[in-house]
Formats: sequence, C-alpha cells, structure tokens
Amino acid sequence: MPLVNCPECSRQVSTAADACPQCGHPMQPASPAPVGPKCHACAAAATTRCQRCGALSCVQHLQSIYVMHGRGAYELRCERCYSDAKFFKALSGVLFGVFILLLLLFLLVQLFLGT
Ligand SMILES: [Zn+2]
Ligand SMILES: [Zn+2]
Ligand SMILES: [Zn+2]
Repeated sequence: MPLVNCPECSRQVSTAADACPQCGHPMQPASPAPVGPKCHACAAAATTRCQRCGALSCVQHLQSIYVMHGRGAYELRCERCYSDAKFFKALSGVLFGVFILLLLLFLLVQLFLGT
C-alpha cells in the first residue's frame, strides 16, 4: 500500500486512508470545491447582482434600466425587478397621459362656460 507524508504531522499515512490516523488531517482530495454563488435564473456562476433586490445573477440575466431616482442612473436589475420597473414606467406614463387629458378637458370646459 503506497504511503504519503501527512502534510499536517508529516507521518506516513496510507493513501487509502480517509484521514491521517495520527492527527486526523483529511487525506482524500476534497470533493470538488463548491463553485461560487449561482445565478438566480440559470446554472451559471453569478458574477453580479440585482441592484434592487440583490438577487445573484450572471451577466445574461441582468438587464440595465434607467431609473429616475436622484439624478437618474443606469442600474442592473434581475428580470423580475426589471419587468416591475417597466410596468411602473408604463403605468406612470398612462397616468401622466390621463392627467394631461383631464387638464385639457378642464381648460376646454373653462373656455366654454367661463366668463
Ligand atoms: Zn497527520
Ligand atoms: Zn443566469
Ligand atoms: Zn431584483
């Protein structure tokens, strides 16, 4: 049976041993090191994260969107936060349109009934 030197206590240990019988140092190569955090949407390693909810993500599953808080800036969003932001953008667009319409209507009514 081949012997190797324990890196911990430098005694000879069988390569078949799971751990050094002297000091308990593990002798078997550790199972593949856990890869870094995974993307929330796929199996790729996460390299970045959503700037809204903090979801870990790969590059493909983040979208950059222009947000209007502060001076306005591009932020990276996961797909869910991205569609949320899109929805609110659309919603505020519609609300703004309705507001303008009501304003015009109000002005027209003033024009016809006024004075
Ligand atoms: Zn040892
Ligand atoms: Zn991904
Ligand atoms: Zn998110």
